[in-house]
Amino acid sequence: MRTLEKQSIDRKARMKLEPVHKQYRAPEIRKNDYLEITPGFTMEEAMKEAARCLQCPKAPCVNACRVGNDIPLAMLLVEQGEFVRAAEVYRETNPLPEICGRVCPPDDSCAASCVLDKQGKGIDTRAIERFVTDYQRLHSGVPLPDKAPPTGKRVAVIGSGPSGLLVAEEALKAGHQVSVYDALPIPGGLLVYGIPGFKLEKDIVEWKIRWLEALGAEFITNTRIGEDISFDELFEPEMFDAIYLGTGAQTHARMGIEGENLGNIHDALDFINGANLPPSILPSGVEPLNSIGKRVAVIGGGDTATDCVRTALRLGAEQVTCYYRRTETEMPGNRIDRNYAEEEGASFEFLTAPIRFLDRSSDGHVDSMEMIRMELGEPDDSGRRRPIPIQGSEYSVEVEHVVLSIGFWADTFIPEQTEGIQLDRKGFIIVDPETGRTTRPGVFAGGDAVSGPELVSEALQLSRFAVAGILGYLNGE
Ligand code: SF4
Repeated sequence: MRTLEKQSIDRKARMKLEPVHKQYRAPEIRKNDYLEITPGFTMEEAMKEAARCLQCPKAPCVNACRVGNDIPLAMLLVEQGEFVRAAEVYRETNPLPEICGRVCPPDDSCAASCVLDKQGKGIDTRAIERFVTDYQRLHSGVPLPDKAPPTGKRVAVIGSGPSGLLVAEEALKAGHQVSVYDALPIPGGLLVYGIPGFKLEKDIVEWKIRWLEALGAEFITNTRIGEDISFDELFEPEMFDAIYLGTGAQTHARMGIEGENLGNIHDALDFINGANLPPSILPSGVEPLNSIGKRVAVIGGGDTATDCVRTALRLGAEQVTCYYRRTETEMPGNRIDRNYAEEEGASFEFLTAPIRFLDRSSDGHVDSMEMIRMELGEPDDSGRRRPIPIQGSEYSVEVEHVVLSIGFWADTFIPEQTEGIQLDRKGFIIVDPETGRTTRPGVFAGGDAVSGPELVSEALQLSRFAVAGILGYLNGE
């Protein structure tokens, strides 16, 4: 390997270098499809951007990265054109780097914590992670890791989202057999059924599934544990020695207001999936969406709400507005995605919320919303200032479709069917934080089913505790 002496870096000179900006597809073009909005860096762009890195001794980008990627080392390799070696640096700490390089929020990630960000010149580390891991996948291929000798033990992973994929990979590497169950038609969980194609094209997820199959994983889809197979059957002889619950948090929260069940009022993920995915892989009960009315309202303030806004634009809506009950400061979704949405033609309204959905034409479909303006009071349990309705400020908004994106709860289907798995008061699975053990022996849990909805990288990191717990348990510790 060629090396670059860190002491030879002229940091002052590097600080003067200008950032390399990715090319973006024009908003008026990209809003006609579900393809990613940027092709990412070219080889030359990645090298030039990496060559701005200051090789900080206590790199804040590494601390900010949920999975602890050695970003300075990767930058050092990329600037020398050692793309495959840089990709391997990412793969040491992250099983899904090509995915995190796309979906980690740009304003809450390694990139945002770069020391150069203070001058508005932070290194685009996400784009470099994406570039090198795509480069490796497409040029040299990603070699399968060595596996320990077969142990004869079997692990069932329930749920094939990011945390389930991480647990499957680590259990396979340790020599165990792994079967991954998913209730939906194809594996990938949230990566397929929660993130729209304009942020993550699905061939990348499919590649990872095929790679895990080559490593030895068995994927069993269209199979809901607790319905198609009872949970207790999984513990019968010849079945599994340990079970991992990575069932995620994709149960929609509801507003509990009048008119919420009217036609043309959609739950967020059903809306995204109905528009983004081919009919053959839609979850049962989700209708394909090919077009939509002129005026669409999205209710909510998270990243999924912004994804719904951008999906509505791609369905041809002319006027798409996102309504959020606090101010933009309290909005949990990332600002950069909102910028993309605004470029594509959406608008955002703050300090307002619906109090009733109306069907004035009595055809069973929503046609307007009664809204009320809000002001902020004292902080609530979340630490954000509580929205308080301003009496007398009610007003009406005409709509043809409404999308509700007001939060997600864990899927409690399995724990409710099964003895011995305790939930907290919000319905998330209680685990020992160091081992991921649930209150039922042999059953482990992690990811969003434990923590609530989190970033993909956060779900991966939290699942590592469960991996340690499962491997220790199967070793008799
Ligand atoms: Fe490089 Fe920025 Fe990380 Fe420092 S903080 S090591 S400049 S990417």
